Amino acid sequence: MSFFRSPEKPFHCKDKPTIVILGTGWGAISFLRALKPLHSNQYNVQIVSPRNYFLYTPLLPASATGTVDTHSIVDPIRSHLDARCNYYEAECLNIDAKEKILTCGYTKPFREASDAGQKDHTFQMKYDVLIVAIGAVTNTFGVPGVDENCFYMKSAEDAKALRERINACFELANLPDTTDEERKRLLSFVIVGGGPTGTELAAEMNDLVIILEDMLRYFPRITRSQVTIKQIDSHDHILSAFDRTIAEYATEHFRRSGIDLVLACRVKAVEPGAVVVQKGKETDRIPFGTCIWTTGIRMHPLAERLADGQEHWRSLMVDNNLRVKGSDSIFALGDAATIEQERVLRHAEELFEQGDANHDGMLSSDELQQLLLLNVKKYPQLAEIAARVPKNTVLSKEAFLKHLEELDKSLRSVPATAQAAHQEGHYLGKLFRKYKIDPATKEVVPEDAPEFEYKPLGTIAYIGHDKAVLDPGPSAPFLRYIRGWLMGLGWKSAEVFMQISYKNMWLVSRDFLKAKIFGRDISDV
Ligand SMILES: Cc1cc2nc3c(=O)[nH]c(=O)nc-3n(C[C@H](O)[C@H](O)[C@H](O)COP(=O)(O)OP(=O)(O)OC[C@H]3O[C@@H](n4cnc5c(N)ncnc54)[C@H](O)[C@@H]3O)c2cc1C
Repeated sequence: MSFFRSPEKPFHCKDKPTIVILGTGWGAISFLRALKPLHSNQYNVQIVSPRNYFLYTPLLPASATGTVDTHSIVDPIRSHLDARCNYYEAECLNIDAKEKILTCGYTKPFREASDAGQKDHTFQMKYDVLIVAIGAVTNTFGVPGVDENCFYMKSAEDAKALRERINACFELANLPDTTDEERKRLLSFVIVGGGPTGTELAAEMNDLVIILEDMLRYFPRITRSQVTIKQIDSHDHILSAFDRTIAEYATEHFRRSGIDLVLACRVKAVEPGAVVVQKGKETDRIPFGTCIWTTGIRMHPLAERLADGQEHWRSLMVDNNLRVKGSDSIFALGDAATIEQERVLRHAEELFEQGDANHDGMLSSDELQQLLLLNVKKYPQLAEIAARVPKNTVLSKEAFLKHLEELDKSLRSVPATAQAAHQEGHYLGKLFRKYKIDPATKEVVPEDAPEFEYKPLGTIAYIGHDKAVLDPGPSAPFLRYIRGWLMGLGWKSAEVFMQISYKNMWLVSRDFLKAKIFGRDISDV
């Protein structure tokens, strides 16, 4: 076994397979942590990511509103590496799966700082095993004007930009020559998306501005009635992925807290200063000073290229060992991947026959519900159809098949959450630690290797005023009744203890306490 050290390959050992990890998010860090004790003995490990830190995403809304400091929820990636493991701050631009070569590009600040004209700002790396943990990107669903007119809530930079914007709006509204009309516009905040991110952001903003009056205390010329927070969603309640009773509780809590909910409507466009929504046949314009787009995710462009030829729309399809379908050496996890599930379309005919109890060639809502009850365990996709199809709709066989086809291509088998990415990373790290995963060997993943199994541990969402709700999932349904302040305490404790280092645990708990005693930090720095 020979070691040599060069700038490209520190402590590189020729006899070991080289693992390259793309990303420093939830999936990547969990993989690395599970692999850590032994990785230097079995593999050469290289990491490529444009972000040289891990970001604790669940507290981004709290960071955007000054409840916690952004530095409290990030941890440098290098503090998780040992000397034999190298990190490159760069972005992977292309994966040549045949030659096993990555083309990586400098990040923007590096391009600006390096010797322009001398280099093309790219470099290549060889890998034996590739771990794709690049996450996903914000989905604008092709709605025109989103990119130009909205803020996002996906990165530390997004949170910082929003925080500065909120401050700027209040400072501008406070200037002596600002008219009442302009003040009202500046202080209109619109959040598009009623999922956990949009809901937690609306809750934090409402705490900051209205409930806890952190802002109003500092801006005595601004009154409560001049500030509005609106949340738009296509469902008739927020948190639609949660159990219905919990979602209704959260919706009611928002209404009582003064958040203006614009529900059951679709955003058609975002114009400068107004969101255009359609409700039934009516179109309405909702004016805003600041609009934040939080409606979900779509496949990362790099994953999209890798998925070329696969049928899924949203993620790279992987097998039960998280290996990308059709590849022997690429594994994918987190938001970038979905485990292949049984295609329900193959069984469409027999399902339709089974559901059509009165043999009239159509599926009524009642028949669909019955079919769902009988088959939801085997085909969870059916639950999605039941949720999508409005009540009292009758489905023809063609319409039923069309729904199934769309679902086969778009539904994820494991949710796009930090919890799932963490479990997948942990599983894969342990797999690599236990078995020497080497594409040079005949059987890359041994047959007796355990398969990944997702264990849903429930989802908590902060709904403001120190309250939270929990959807415990099917394992402990009785826990859903614990909500409000008690769950708010549970949420805060979870956010502290789920930090990936003791340093961050200390910083986040300190920030929570500081915000409680002294109010939120509204400075621009
Ligand atoms: C505001 C917000 C709140 C959330 N709250 C929760 C919550 O409460 N609970 C929960 O379970 N989930 C939550 N999520 C979802 C959770 O953050 C994601 O599911 C999780 O981050 C997915 O992990 P990942 O490793 O797949 O991707 P990420 O954590 O997004 O990491 C992707 C990594 O890939 C890197 N990367 C990107 N492009 C490239 C490239 N070309 N080359 C190399 N590296 C690249 C990025 O820099 C990053 O380091 C939240 C998400 C957001 C945005």
